[in-house]
Amino acid sequence: MSETLTTPQFAGSVGVPVLEVDDLHVEFRTTYGTVSAVNGITYSVNKGETLAILGESGSGKSVSVQAVMGILDTPPGFITSGSIRFHGEDILKMSSHKQRILRGPGIAMVFQDALSSLNPVFSVGHQIGEMHRAHQGASRREAKAKAIELMERVGIPAARERVNDYPHQFSGGMRQRVMIAMALALDPEILIADEPTTALDVTVQAQIMELLSDLQADTGMGLILITHDLGVVNEVADRVAVMYAGKIVESGTIDEVFTSPTHPYTAGLMSSVPQAESKGTRLNPITGQPPNLAAIPAGCSFHPRCPHARVGSAAAPGRDCAVEVPDLREVRPGRKSGCHYSEELYGE
Ligand code: SF4
Repeated sequence: MSETLTTPQFAGSVGVPVLEVDDLHVEFRTTYGTVSAVNGITYSVNKGETLAILGESGSGKSVSVQAVMGILDTPPGFITSGSIRFHGEDILKMSSHKQRILRGPGIAMVFQDALSSLNPVFSVGHQIGEMHRAHQGASRREAKAKAIELMERVGIPAARERVNDYPHQFSGGMRQRVMIAMALALDPEILIADEPTTALDVTVQAQIMELLSDLQADTGMGLILITHDLGVVNEVADRVAVMYAGKIVESGTIDEVFTSPTHPYTAGLMSSVPQAESKGTRLNPITGQPPNLAAIPAGCSFHPRCPHARVGSAAAPGRDCAVEVPDLREVRPGRKSGCHYSEELYGE
């Protein structure tokens, strides 16, 4: 009996998770040692919701979604534990055939570098229509018609005339729209956008984010936005998970996390953003560098950079920042922080 995918489009209701990632661990086994890229992250995404996963380069955010999409390079990358449930069914326990048919109608992804993600020797229409040919057995004519429809939907002008053009004939912003059209081809329930605007100038960035928001409003899909850009997060996300050294160190609604952070790393990120009203004053960058994931510091991984770290005799019993790993725990309703001293530093 052939396997089927029990993924009714937009099943459930707002507030019911479509995707649930639970205690996910990913490591890379290299000749230089084991790199712990994702160290037990947990999150969920509901229908129609935007979750931003925010972090510096090397925080593990992109690897975590590659694991969700099943596109980790294995070896050297391995999911060592955890679960990734789609409508309650663990993707990691599905056959590879079933995982393949999940990609597209279930979960789709927009990559950050459209030029290197698109195939230079095929027209954009061919690449967009290919999803329909591969998943739905569409004819060439049907696939081309669908490609034109999708190009129009993502705002590519003169789609009918441009459907046979090649990626290099489009601007960076238009290429990113092509990538979004490909991702939307099968009406995914979850769209993962990995730094979708990184290579674009500011005005085009805003247009792409507006397009993603409009498409989300139209389709009801859940959106996972991977970014290091606080401005992008602030504009479009409902909730944010802040990642550091392969872990989520803070999570909550965007308004709460940005106005009253409960973790020193998030607070540091906020104070390092230029503010129009404080023009001429010095920025407060977080000192030091993110840790090497092959040698993550003991205790709280942020402690070598944390201005509030308490170590040795300065620490409370069982809460030495250089020894004890803080749990991500609820510190306020709907707010989680992975800091031993969250309440002391930021109040209940
Ligand atoms: Fe800083 Fe300690 Fe909190 Fe880590 S646990 S963020 S080192 S105060």
